[in-house]
Amino acid sequence: MTAKNPEKTNSVSFGPGSTVAVLLPLPLAGPYDYLVGPDDRYQVGDIVNVPLGSRRATGVVWGQASGDVDSAKLRQIDSLRETPPLPTALIKLVNWTAAYTLYSQGAVLRMTLSVPDALDPPKPTKGYTLASVLPEVRSTKARDKVLAFLKEAPPLPIADIAREAGCGASVVKGLFDAGALIAVNMATASDWPVPDPEFGGVTLSDDQKHASEVLSSSVQNGFKVVLIDGVPGSGKTEVYFEALARALQEKKQILVMLPEIALGAQWLERFEARFGVAPAMWHSELTHAKRRDTWRAVANGDVRVVVGARSALFLPFADLGLIVVDEEHDGSFKQEEGVIYHARDMAVVRARVEDIPLALVSATPSLETVTNVARGRYEEVTLPARHGGQDLADVSIVDMRKDGPSRGCWLSPLLTEALTKTFDAGDQAMLFLNRRGYAPLTLCRTCGHRLQCPRCTAWLVEHRLHDRLQCHHCGFQTRLPEKCPSCDDTESMVPCGPGVERLAEEIEMLFPDIRTIIAASDMVQGPKQAAELVRLIEDKEVDLVIGTQIVAKGYHFPGLTLVGVVDADLGLTGGEFRAAERTFQLLYQVAGRAGRGDRPGEVILQTYMPDHAVMGALLSGDRDTFNKAESEAREQASMPPFGRLVALIVSGRVERDVDATAANLARIAPRPDGIRVLGPAPAPMALLRGKHRRRLLLSAPRDVQVQGIVKDWVRRASIQKQVRVQIDVDPVSFF
Ligand code: ADP
Ligand code: ZN
Repeated sequence: MTAKNPEKTNSVSFGPGSTVAVLLPLPLAGPYDYLVGPDDRYQVGDIVNVPLGSRRATGVVWGQASGDVDSAKLRQIDSLRETPPLPTALIKLVNWTAAYTLYSQGAVLRMTLSVPDALDPPKPTKGYTLASVLPEVRSTKARDKVLAFLKEAPPLPIADIAREAGCGASVVKGLFDAGALIAVNMATASDWPVPDPEFGGVTLSDDQKHASEVLSSSVQNGFKVVLIDGVPGSGKTEVYFEALARALQEKKQILVMLPEIALGAQWLERFEARFGVAPAMWHSELTHAKRRDTWRAVANGDVRVVVGARSALFLPFADLGLIVVDEEHDGSFKQEEGVIYHARDMAVVRARVEDIPLALVSATPSLETVTNVARGRYEEVTLPARHGGQDLADVSIVDMRKDGPSRGCWLSPLLTEALTKTFDAGDQAMLFLNRRGYAPLTLCRTCGHRLQCPRCTAWLVEHRLHDRLQCHHCGFQTRLPEKCPSCDDTESMVPCGPGVERLAEEIEMLFPDIRTIIAASDMVQGPKQAAELVRLIEDKEVDLVIGTQIVAKGYHFPGLTLVGVVDADLGLTGGEFRAAERTFQLLYQVAGRAGRGDRPGEVILQTYMPDHAVMGALLSGDRDTFNKAESEAREQASMPPFGRLVALIVSGRVERDVDATAANLARIAPRPDGIRVLGPAPAPMALLRGKHRRRLLLSAPRDVQVQGIVKDWVRRASIQKQVRVQIDVDPVSFF
């Protein structure tokens, strides 16, 4: 990319003999002071090598030195790395995230400098060409072909020459060893094709056009957050693609964040159809080399569009112009390990420090976002109807207390009948059950013993297809025991409750002729398998999809007319304060998969709680009334987004020490007006990977800056050795 936005470059510089703060990507307190060498000059953002103890480390020039250490005692920065400086906006994002989440700046910086190799310039590729003076070489047919080919061709890598000349690589290498070829450094062309804003595209409806204009008008006009709120199938993706096109025309970089990117196969296809090439991807399954190249290409501006999971937020974009957070309500944007942060919320921060627009996209926006719209902080555009004018699917409810299936079965007569009709009509159906495996619990019929993970507070889940019992929290695996571990009775272990595999068994009995596929995260691993799954459904090579949440979101399967939710109550148990909101969002998304083609859709919810507000809202399709009631209840209870929460999770291997630390935290808990501290209580996962866990929860009014209070609280605590206190600001999960 050529001209850089002048505000985005770092102007402060530090000359010879001055002192600077350098932040290391390590969970230390903050930046350390260093000295600038006699011949050097650095600017804020420069990535440098510094001495640290007896080793060398990589850090980032962060700003003025603190002056805490006598400059005579400071050590000198070694050298500058050959990589562009981190942009000021990214430095601000790191500082902001650290201050907000209460993790150290270094721990946050580590998310940015996540690929240390990327800081070295790529090794130039070697190309091979004819030596100017050809030595005498033994002639063979293959060698002659290579020599003849290279007379006409530019320098090329060995593999390319071998392919073009139709011989093995060893022939080319042999010629090189014999001195007939020489190696030259090849100019590296960018491997990152630029998406073409004019390549594809649809003609937007008036509503859609308006929505995309609200968003793209600000690509030049700075920070704003726009909620794109529209029913499933209303064209939200098309709308933000249009804004992407605009940002591409402005030669800006773009970040699109998707939940569970590894499964976004259909999204990628659509992107290619619209822009002619694939975007760069950023997720945990990239190879190391790809990760390194992508990081560097993002930093130097070669990559124009990145689609990624939450960690993409900390990439060093040279000139970001637009951020899109698709399915913004999705809980997987919250990172629960390492630095605990919410990628959607920090995306808003990044947009603000970059002074660019951000689109939050959802058919079921989070209450946080809805409330920010109501407060006038975010703009909103709505797409009230499906593109093409189809109605949303009809929703009906099966009261499982009255109309449930017979014992040992999971599909009610009503749902079975609807399935029959759907298959008879040659249409596709989906059964949704958010439970992997065969059965969530295995117990002994004789003594009642339940098979539990030895390292976690969790039942072992039977996966019959893999012939294993598995803990879904730590990965522990074992075989189904032949005898009950408790009473030694044989053949007494029985599965309890259904998972997707067990449902498939019931389907096999009811509908032996239909083609079923199970879609769960342990069956669909990685983008390739996901793409294959999508293809099978799109091409109607399957009649029924039995799926967990991985098929609930975003997909567009025109042939799918019936969605059956096997256990609509699953998310409502457990009592977390967002349970109703989340269940509504998930089931509304699932329901949105039905009837997206030209035939109307039907949704059947099996529930033991037909009078629950969530079922009512799904039945009537009245999301706004549901949100309003949810909001009022939250407001009365001072729960988010009307109050603030910070969770402390105390964990360690020695239960006594964990308890002592948790008790101490409770004893010294802050007690200013309006602040309450609950706990300590055993976490729902009181044991996780062999560690005991206790939770405390601080709640405060919304206008209280909780960070200072919590920081001081934890600092005053006496934390036992080998006990960890994790801070979770704005907790989403309470496991
Ligand atoms: P959402 O993201 O809201 O679920 P999509 O953007 O996926 O909606 O749109 C649903 C389907 O309708 C897609 O196949 C999309 O290509 C198509 N579509 C949406 N808007 C238009 C339009 N203006 N012209 C043609 N097709 C459209
Ligand atoms: Zn476990």
